[in-house]
This record gives sequence, C-alpha cells and structure tokens, in this order.
Amino acid sequence: MFTIPSPTIVNTSSRPLSETTIVRRKTRPVRVGHVTIGGGHPVVVQSMINEDTLDVEGSVAAIIRLHKIGCEIVRVTVPSLAHAKALSEIKQKLVETYLAVPLAADVHHNGMKIALEVAKYVEKVRINPGLYVFEKPKPNRTEYTHAEFDDIGEKIRETLEPLVVSLRDQGKAMRIGVNHGSLAERMLFTYGDTPEGMVESALEFIRICESLDFRNLVISLKASRVPVMLTAYRLMVQRMNELGMDYPLHLGVTEAGDGEYGRIKSTAGIGTLLADGIGDTIRVSLTEAPEKEIPVCYSILQALGLRKTMVEYVACPSCGRTLFNLEEVLHKVREATKHLTGLDIAVMGCIVNGPGEMADADYGYVGKQPGYISLYRGKEEIKKVPESQGVEELINLIKADDRWVDP
Ligand code: SF4
Repeated sequence: MFTIPSPTIVNTSSRPLSETTIVRRKTRPVRVGHVTIGGGHPVVVQSMINEDTLDVEGSVAAIIRLHKIGCEIVRVTVPSLAHAKALSEIKQKLVETYLAVPLAADVHHNGMKIALEVAKYVEKVRINPGLYVFEKPKPNRTEYTHAEFDDIGEKIRETLEPLVVSLRDQGKAMRIGVNHGSLAERMLFTYGDTPEGMVESALEFIRICESLDFRNLVISLKASRVPVMLTAYRLMVQRMNELGMDYPLHLGVTEAGDGEYGRIKSTAGIGTLLADGIGDTIRVSLTEAPEKEIPVCYSILQALGLRKTMVEYVACPSCGRTLFNLEEVLHKVREATKHLTGLDIAVMGCIVNGPGEMADADYGYVGKQPGYISLYRGKEEIKKVPESQGVEELINLIKADDRWVDP
C-alpha cells in the first residue's frame, strides 16, 4: 500500500520554531555621526545620491531631499581628489543650512589618497577590498604563488594603515564593502569566484584593521544574484562567530534593476537575511531616482516587524463572500488613516473569516451584511453601521479611544 510520509519540519535558522519575532544577531555598535549601526539599534536605512559630487549645490540639495524622506546615512561617490575636496564644502553647507547628515564616501580604484582626504569630512568611508589596491589582472596568468599573494597583502596593509589610523583617531567608521563582481585577481585565483572568496577578502581587511586596534567596522558582501549574496552573508556570519567577531552587516543586492522585479529581488535578498536576524543597515539599489529606494527599505523593515514607520494594513484579498468593493474601501480607509503611524488596521470582506483573520489588528472594518459593516476594536465588535458611514465611524472610534491625531 502507498503511504504518504509525514512531513518533517526542519528549522533552517538558528531561531526556535516557536519564535514569532525576529531575534537579531548581536553586533557591536558602530557610530556614524549621530546614527548608530548595530548594537541592537534599529536597522539603519541608507541610499546614495547620483549627482556628481563636484556639483556642490546639487549634491547638498540631493542629500537634504533624501534625508527628509528617511534616509539616515547618505552615500556619495568620490572618484577623485577633487571630489574628496568638494565634500568639505558639501559638509559645511549642510551644517550651515540644514544639519550634519551622516555621510559615507565611496572610494574605489587605488583610492588611498582620496580616502585620506575625504575621511576629514565624512563620518564613514567605504572601501572595496577588490579595488583599494588595484592590480591589473594579467590575462596570461595561470597561477598565483604564495609569495605573490603575500606581497600584495603587504602592499594592502601599507596602503590601508594611514586611513585606518585617521578614522580610528577621529572616531569615524569604515565599511569594508566587498562586491562579488570586483573580487581581486589573487582572491579569484585562490578561492574562485565564490562567496568564500568574498568572505576571505573581507577578513583580510578586518585583520589589518584589528591589528591597528580599529573596530568601527561595518561589513558588506553584495552580489547581483540573490543566492550568492545570501550565501556570502551567511558564511560571513559563520566565520565571524568562529573568530569571535561581532561586526554589523550592511545588506544589499547590487544591480537589482528597476520596477517591480528590482524591488522583489532586493526584498528576497535583504528580507531573507533580516528574517534570520542578520543585518544592521540596508540599501535597496534601484535603477531609479534614489528617493524611490527609501519606501522599499521601510516596507521591508515594517513587514518584518523590525521598524514601524507607517500604519500596518491587514486586508483580505476578497472573494465571493465579500460584501463591498474591498479595493475601494481599503483605499478610502488608507487615505483617512495613513498618518496614524503605529496603528494596525484591518479591512476584511465578511464576518465569516474576517474577524478571525485580522491578525490582532487594533481596529477592524468588516463586512457584516449587504449595506452594513461592523467596526472592531481588537477582537471586540463595537458597532454595526451603514457602509456609507463606515470610514467616518472608524475615525470616530479611533478619536473616542484618544488614538487619533490630525494629519
Ligand atoms: S475575509 Fe471573507 S470576504 Fe475576505 S477573503 Fe476571507 S472569506 Fe472572503
């Protein structure tokens, strides 16, 4: 006789299966201006302006625009020494006209001098281990000897040391930002184009920083393919645990693209790790205006219960039992209440399943019978009202509970 095997539930994360809130990995706090990454602080939202940093006015305006909508650390790119010097003016203008927005400067190819200059004006410098000491790949190379590997390692140490000392002495931070697409040739030869190579690349830089007693580090291991990025971050966590390191992680999927798929791809990568407690700061990289990235970051964090920056709406998908135009009503309810950050509001099509599935919402708007809806406070049915007065009565109920604020 054919028997169906009973399913085995495997807990793939380190959390107990009964846990319904995310238990975050313990990390050391790393200060970036007035913002702290890690150490149990809320997951920090970042984005990056796409203005040329030499355009001081444009950059200042873009930084302010991003900061006003919730970007807590703003990244700027610094491809040359002139760009690094421009940051002095940018910082000054921000302080004079707005406030000292925490800035992170991105330094790439052979960026030692640039990094040293820009470290005077920003709170955090991001370096890419694959590019910081850039050795042009040799197309005919067939092997990398230990001696060659160590020689470059020594060169990296010499080049990194002044930057580390500067950041350490100023109490500033560094992101060691590994990218799958720009691993150094010697890492590719030694570890292959693999998450392991990414992790070793980060560890090499971490060890240099630690030897100079500098630990204000944030680590990232971005890739454009979600499974690669997931493995790299998980492996990093494992290696850090083995080595007794507790550096916070910056999560992101590079080149995620645009539109719906770009958002889903970013969410698949960032959200999966956050759900396992991994990650202290995030950036959603979209091929769109940077302002578009911030709502996606907040939606990921809100959906996982990591930050509450808007009203949480619970709504059923509607079905044959639905007693009103759900889409329209949800829209009306949202328009009337979207400023009440912190509340959970449910809009459910019928009383058959609605009240049971409102997921502990603070208030519920539930189809009762044709033309009527019921308002709930938690699980308690408060009153039945004509559908035409539903939204108004919901507002009255919230007001009566003293939980209303004017938009
Ligand atoms: S709550 Fe009611 S109307 Fe909504 S999907 Fe469930 S059964 Fe259908």
